[in-house]
Amino acid sequence: MTHPISDYPSVASGASAPSLSFLGLGGMGTAFARAWLAAGCSLTVWNRTAGKADALVAEGAVAVRSPAAAVAANTLVVTCLLDDASVGQTLEGTDLAGKDLVDLTTGTPAEARARGAWAEARGARFLSGGIMAVPPMVGVPEAGGYVLLSGSRGLFETHEATLGVPLVPEFAGVDAGHAALQDIALLSGMYGTLAGVTHALALVRDEKEINLRDFTPRLVNWVMSMASAIEQISDQVASGHYPTGDVAPLSMQSAGVSTFLTTARDQGVSPELLTPYFALMKRRVEQGHGDEGPAGLVELLTPRPTAP
Ligand code: NDP
Repeated sequence: MTHPISDYPSVASGASAPSLSFLGLGGMGTAFARAWLAAGCSLTVWNRTAGKADALVAEGAVAVRSPAAAVAANTLVVTCLLDDASVGQTLEGTDLAGKDLVDLTTGTPAEARARGAWAEARGARFLSGGIMAVPPMVGVPEAGGYVLLSGSRGLFETHEATLGVPLVPEFAGVDAGHAALQDIALLSGMYGTLAGVTHALALVRDEKEINLRDFTPRLVNWVMSMASAIEQISDQVASGHYPTGDVAPLSMQSAGVSTFLTTARDQGVSPELLTPYFALMKRRVEQGHGDEGPAGLVELLTPRPTAP
């Protein structure tokens, strides 16, 4: 999906227009580049496969032949490449002294920290980004996308307006790995939800009397209403205190597991998306926590050393 130029926020025009270099014109990179161009920014682009820059040049970008030329063209340099290895390959040998490098490439927290130290050793300020959006959401503020950025607060403050053109920027701390860590944590929450949704749809889709179009709004509403429990779970995890007397105690939930497994079997559905969670509930109950809610399961995933 592309958007008319008038959809994008405008940051400036003419001589005061922000100027930046952008490396990586894949699906996400092209969406970012297009948003900056549409907002009136002066954009220098580079991509390994040079032809991908052609459409952007027609929209006003300047394409250069090498990463070194892209880095040399502006103080603000943004990368959005496949993975951290491709960032290293692309920027190796470029002169990063005095540059403000923002790497939007998805990677691990450790990769982001190492890339930050690598950039700083070459004289650059550094921010690592976690993009919480898909390409059609870029440049469309009402779509709700945002980008987590961690590392140099000074770099963030200097370029916040420019960085905010494609997606709302949120500073995620001075540890360069913290944008990546929160990105991965948020996506992990998404995958857990999708696992349950996938199982739910598998259970009902072949039932002649159940229409998925009728069932789906029920599923959406149920997942949304259960999401309200996340804050209470998070408060308990933060405190490490798991009150007994929960309204839906683990003992009750664990006793119901056989109902879920038998129903799955009867419907011809593999229970493999749910069984790891059920196994954790059973262990927690066996350890004497049956009167608690589900928050304490986190202790089975990240056991803490017991006090001496
Ligand atoms: P694409 O696969 O569409 O593009 C990958 C880009 O990386 C291309 O520009 C490609 O160049 C370049 N590249 C790959 N390997 C190398 C290399 N060794 N040296 C130089 N350049 C290389 O990915 P996206 O644009 O969709 O994603 C970019 C980043 O954004 C990824 O880290 C992704 O995880 C992240 N992201 C993407 C989202 C999405 O929905 N697409 C959502 C959130 C984050 P070439 O054109 O020459 O192949």
